[in-house]
Amino acid sequence: CMIDYQVPANLLQGRILLVTGAGDGIGRAAALTFARHGATVILLGRTIAKLEKVYDEIESAGGPQPAIFPLNFEGATLKDYHDMAETLEKEFGRLDGILHNAGLLGRITPFEQYNPALWEQVMQVNINGPIWMTQALLPLLKASEDASLVFTSSSVGRRGRAYWGAYAVSKFATEGVMEVLADELDHLGNVRANSLNPGATRTQMRKQAYPGELPESLRTPEEIMPTYLWLMGPDSKGHNGEQFDAQPPKG
Ligand code: NDP
Repeated sequence: CMIDYQVPANLLQGRILLVTGAGDGIGRAAALTFARHGATVILLGRTIAKLEKVYDEIESAGGPQPAIFPLNFEGATLKDYHDMAETLEKEFGRLDGILHNAGLLGRITPFEQYNPALWEQVMQVNINGPIWMTQALLPLLKASEDASLVFTSSSVGRRGRAYWGAYAVSKFATEGVMEVLADELDHLGNVRANSLNPGATRTQMRKQAYPGELPESLRTPEEIMPTYLWLMGPDSKGHNGEQFDAQPPKG
């Protein structure tokens, strides 16, 4: 499902939103865009210098003061996620949304040759870490009047494709977690979960997956933000357990 959306300027006013992988690519654009629309953004990622740059950009644009949360999904433990929940509880008392965006491509390689350690690494970063983080943060989401969980998927998370290995499998699992949570949360009415496929977007990850492609032929992260904004804001309320696309499939 695709969304055509004229974005109101103060759409996310007063919302406290966590963005994972906020230092680069789509996550960086999402953090800046959410802040520009009034959200207080918690910037989570593994490279602090990149997060600090995004922080500074938000500050100099006059956005609400963001927060930096350094975390590497590869090494993070359950304790880290619970400490994180405690910190956010003290600081904000609630959470109005999470954009699960951080991701690792792994290698495009035949299944038969896929390195098991790399497979596990990709699963750790793309799905297992985010699962336990979400579990720890659920009480904070439930404390919100209107919380939105957005899980970043991919076309290979909806239809498997040769050589995409752990990445594709992790994105199927992402859709799975989204559906299970959406079904469990449905009766609450104040927390929803949906998945979003950004589609081919001009980032480092895309370049790694398609080294021969001209970057200029791809949409930029900024260009795909309307769907991100719609999903994070009040206008998508009532949508739960659905799959969305941020751009039409590449012809
Ligand atoms: P990038 O590689 O540009 O950015 C990925 C982000 O995730 C970076 O900020 C990176 O941090 C962070 N990250 C990676 N590993 C970890 C980790 N172990 N712990 C914490 N953060 C981590 O990718 P994109 O912006 O292209 O991708 C964003 C999302 O969109 C991903 O989920 C991807 O699968 C999905 N997607 C992208 C498509 C595209 O065409 N670009 C198409 C379909 C889906 P750091 O900067 O420190 O490396």
